[in-house]
Amino acid sequence: MRIIKVLRVVLMVVLAFPMGAFAERTRLKPGNNAYTPAQDVEMGRQAAAEVEQAYPMLNIGQVDDYLDRLGRRLAGYAPGEKFPYQFKCVNDASINAFALPGGFLFVNRGTIEAADNEAELAGVIGHEIGHVALRHGTNQLTKSQKTQGLAQIGSLVLGSIIGNQTLGSLAQLGVGLGANSVLLKYSRDAEREADLIGTQILYDAGYNPEYMAEFFTKLESGDRGSDFFSDHPNPDKRMQKIREEIAKLGRASMGDASDSEEFQRIKQYVQSLPAAPSAEEWARTQQGNVSGQGGQPTGQASGGGGRYTPPPQPSTRYRNFRSGYISLSHPDNWQTSGSDQEFALLPERGAVQVGNNAPALAYGANFAVHISGNRRDLKQATDQLAQSIQKSNPNMRLSRDRGQIQVAGQAALSRVYVNESPLGGREVDWLVTMLRPEGLAYFIFVAPEADFAAYQQTFQGILDSAKFQ
Ligand SMILES: [Zn+2]
Repeated sequence: MRIIKVLRVVLMVVLAFPMGAFAERTRLKPGNNAYTPAQDVEMGRQAAAEVEQAYPMLNIGQVDDYLDRLGRRLAGYAPGEKFPYQFKCVNDASINAFALPGGFLFVNRGTIEAADNEAELAGVIGHEIGHVALRHGTNQLTKSQKTQGLAQIGSLVLGSIIGNQTLGSLAQLGVGLGANSVLLKYSRDAEREADLIGTQILYDAGYNPEYMAEFFTKLESGDRGSDFFSDHPNPDKRMQKIREEIAKLGRASMGDASDSEEFQRIKQYVQSLPAAPSAEEWARTQQGNVSGQGGQPTGQASGGGGRYTPPPQPSTRYRNFRSGYISLSHPDNWQTSGSDQEFALLPERGAVQVGNNAPALAYGANFAVHISGNRRDLKQATDQLAQSIQKSNPNMRLSRDRGQIQVAGQAALSRVYVNESPLGGREVDWLVTMLRPEGLAYFIFVAPEADFAAYQQTFQGILDSAKFQ
């Protein structure tokens, strides 16, 4: 019985799509590979951790969340292995993106700023997803190890990566992350394949893939010094191949989605941020980190060098603030900055800049909504959030779990962490989380350990006044 049913379904499908209505799309499969897909993921995870240390990450929730949602939606149309994709923004003005094996994708801020619409950004992301889906990184590694007779050594080292031990790791594997990294230096054939997969993904996701070809053409002819094309060589026929594939896919049934309000909002927001550090500036901060000599923290508001003066005492007079998502009261000598669902509450000199890193919170509070985690279980969602915060704050440790409290008339979790203060020494981070339909809403209240008690009443006052709009 079961077999007959299946046959009927197959027949119906065949009849519903008469031959010839669809031209054959180009079918691509991953090449020879000495590694398993699971090893792609482990290697990519390791490399991604190194990237996040070595590159200036933007680390802004709403930008990363947007990229992650767009990217995962596109990756849903990728052929082959279902990798656990994740997408993050690099605070770099050049137009570029790169993908590590197993689905760890990085998009430069400059790419968002240069794209005219979501489809153009989706084209770059789709191309990078193509590299992941076709496993170009480990395919290249396989080839290079064969020619060097290193396959065995490679898999031994990889064994230790997968065994989760400490490792000097990718460098030992001969897989550095520089411009010449085996994992990222793809052949022209690989680039052409990634273009085709990107074209198909855009088409299947309802975008007009012409935008992909158009963005590439724009980059090629533009004067913005695109790195995308130095990493991504442009053989004569690259654009032509994309257009040929579009013709095969069938222009008639092509979606015409090209943009979204959210893309324009994120682009505008990114454009409003302070300039990304130049390569030289970033290199200098990296040296500072290595030698253990962080720059002298300077109050952002004071705008210059010199010794850091702590903020004035929080006023006991409160002022109302409505973000459009939540309303609350804060001391009237504090400022707010940010967007509806992601903003900071800051005293003067509450944010400090060390070296050329993005300003860090030393005194004050952040409010945000974490939209990529669990939406049903407050504790699980809070654990996920804490883990993602700890990624950019590796020295953050749970000090006290205060359990459940009430905020804005609903259940909230309250946890106290100790962390490294950007001013040097220790700070206390008080995390308060609430489940909302949009995701996990949270406050983080921050002050150096020695001052935390003095700020606690202010923080509690902000929390007690909070109401979702
Ligand atoms: Zn590429």
